[in-house]
Amino acid sequence: MNNHLIFQKIIKREISSNILYQDQIVTAFEDINPKAPIHILIVPNDFIKTANDINQKNQNIIAHMFCIAIKMAKEKKISKDGYKIIINCNKNGGQEINYLHMHLLGGIKLKTLY
Ligand code: 5GP
Repeated sequence: MNNHLIFQKIIKREISSNILYQDQIVTAFEDINPKAPIHILIVPNDFIKTANDINQKNQNIIAHMFCIAIKMAKEKKISKDGYKIIINCNKNGGQEINYLHMHLLGGIKLKTLY
């Protein structure tokens, strides 16, 4: 499925979304269908399909995504109470958009899966 084009268009600002942060490596924007009071997606600007495609060459991008997620959590003042950072991978992981993204969720007590 070509739904990864949605995130590519958001990154390039070809379709509207609430972009909260962007640099040369990542873009962070609000989820269109938030599952918590704070629900931000952090994506690499250069296409990576799934977590399976993280490797030694691009691992610095993932580290940067984490840093920006944490920066967003601090800016949204959810870092003290806490939050979840989630990456869904493929069918069983519940990945709907075929473009690697990190969910930052917070602002409410979140359920655990285990
Ligand atoms: P996944 O299930 O793939 O881990 O998460 C995909 C997320 O992308 C969902 O939370 C969904 O609400 C969000 N999403 C899907 N389409 C759009 C869109 O066009 N704009 C924004 N901002 N978020 C989207």
